Amino acid sequence: MMLGFIVSYMLFRAVPTEPVYDVPYSEFKTMIRERRIQEVILRGENVEGRLFVPEVIGPQGEQATRFQSRIPAFGDSALLLEMEEAEIAVIVAPEREESLFQQLLIATLPWLLFFGFFIWIMARTARNMGRFGGPNELGGFLNPPVKEAEVPEVTFADVAGQENAKREITELVEYLRNPEKFLKLGAEIPRGVLLMGAPGTGKTLLAKALAGEAGVPFFSISGSEFIEVFVGVGASRVRHLFEAAKKNSPSIIFIDELDSIGRTRGTGLGGGHDEREQTLNQILAEMDGFSGREAVLLLAATNRPDVLDPALLRPGRFDRHVMLDLPDLKDRIAILRVHSRKTPLAPEVDMDKIARGTPGFSGADLKNLINEAAILAAREDEQQITMADFDEARDKVLMGTARTLTIEPDERHRLAVHEAGHTLVAYFAPNADTLYKVTIVPRGHALGGTQQLPEHERHTMPEEYLQDRLAVIFGGRAAEKELLGTLSSGADDDIHQATTMARAMVSRWGMSEEVGPVDLRESENHPFLGREIAQPRHYSEHSAETVDDAVRDLLIKAEQRASNIITQHREKLDILIALLEKEETLYREQIEECLGAG
Ligand code: ADP
Ligand code: ZN
Repeated sequence: MMLGFIVSYMLFRAVPTEPVYDVPYSEFKTMIRERRIQEVILRGENVEGRLFVPEVIGPQGEQATRFQSRIPAFGDSALLLEMEEAEIAVIVAPEREESLFQQLLIATLPWLLFFGFFIWIMARTARNMGRFGGPNELGGFLNPPVKEAEVPEVTFADVAGQENAKREITELVEYLRNPEKFLKLGAEIPRGVLLMGAPGTGKTLLAKALAGEAGVPFFSISGSEFIEVFVGVGASRVRHLFEAAKKNSPSIIFIDELDSIGRTRGTGLGGGHDEREQTLNQILAEMDGFSGREAVLLLAATNRPDVLDPALLRPGRFDRHVMLDLPDLKDRIAILRVHSRKTPLAPEVDMDKIARGTPGFSGADLKNLINEAAILAAREDEQQITMADFDEARDKVLMGTARTLTIEPDERHRLAVHEAGHTLVAYFAPNADTLYKVTIVPRGHALGGTQQLPEHERHTMPEEYLQDRLAVIFGGRAAEKELLGTLSSGADDDIHQATTMARAMVSRWGMSEEVGPVDLRESENHPFLGREIAQPRHYSEHSAETVDDAVRDLLIKAEQRASNIITQHREKLDILIALLEKEETLYREQIEECLGAG
């Protein structure tokens, strides 16, 4: 790994290169359309390319023919077609350099290694001379000093909305202010808190606010810092960080992008991830090494909790989970207010209206929106930001953040119909879980969501309960069919979920007459790995067909039940849809009030 890294570093980075034009995604698309691009190399989400004619990229008239950009993580299906249309030579390269290629290089050019290493260190030293003022760079590089941590000036007042997350975090303030009191009483304090949520929802902000509120120093690292460093450096950095935090206790350690180091171990093909694993192991070891007397709280942020190594989530580690959602209408207004506190606004500026036009915007996007509007106003020599500035800024932010899911009005209506369908069926199906909330604020890949909470912890699931659950899952699809007459791809995950559940009912829990009480499962829940392991097939083709038929049967029946409930309570559904479109998020009381009446 280390050898490979140095060699590739030599080849791809240390070579003096011509300037590269960093273009936003939107500009990249314009360049394609205007046929300015000669060739493009796609490397995962990274785009590198060459232009026909050099473009001016700097204030001193610097020019570049090379450019780079990034395409959104969720893809752009039109991109390849557009490039083909514009007759661009497209090369699709592997995301990382081939390890075979690296090995070949290592075998044939061992001298390159030493030479390269030498030059690299020299170059680093030269570059860092000014910063550290000494030639003793190697040691400093391998063990960089932990940044002096300060008490942040941010407080909870700077975090708008996110009431649930704030409530959970508030408990910890008292502990950080006065850990002795808690220790004396032998109270159990959570060691690690995992903040989960889409990018820009304020995870870092909230962690900082906790430190600011409690008046304790805030130490932070980001998981992505460790991706391309020498083996051992990440672990050593973690060690130093924990040391410093303990010395300054009570204190907070914040690990941003935990998923980039905390992915499930042992999944990297070819074993190219030693560094990540060592760093992760070090974090786990440090967490386990707490004697319980240090008042050091660990907070970590991730937008991919699903890929985290289960070891991180075990009791005593990141066992407390706090969810941050994309803001709904009310919260968007609050965030806009917080960030425009010091901004001169024209009298006609209506935050409510702006918030309505920005569903799917994260807190960071909204902050960016105000900033863009201010820049536009300044450019026009205005004294105040006008509504027109906000309109223009919105389009700019939308183009810049390809990840922001914006929803067009007709799509929004379909979404409301779909979610209200789930909600209606959940309310009227007698054995379904109690409703908790329903929302059409998009989050992650899911556009909306209907959340139910079991009344009590369930250990076994009776058949009627499971059948109702299937009906609830189909409620969204059934409502679309009933009210809009057409279907959409929005029910994709629903169908997947329902099928998985129906298959378990038939093949494991003997809930189908035709199949009977036979175990015909295809996979096994692995007790140590905590995930599903495929089983070798141990039943006949005939049994497999019977299972398939029984599964389809269950699903069709469930969809029928959902449809029946929807036709039966059609007027209530209409009212619910209208309310959902107005409020974006409805909680239990609001739903019950709406559906219970009459
Ligand atoms: P994350 O860590 O979740 O990616 P950040 O905490 O870095 O998001 O958020 C980036 C910026 O967006 C913050 O510094 C803050 O200015 C703004 N922001 C995000 N959420 C909120 C919020 N709920 N209230 C106020 N500002 C917010
Ligand atoms: Zn759905």
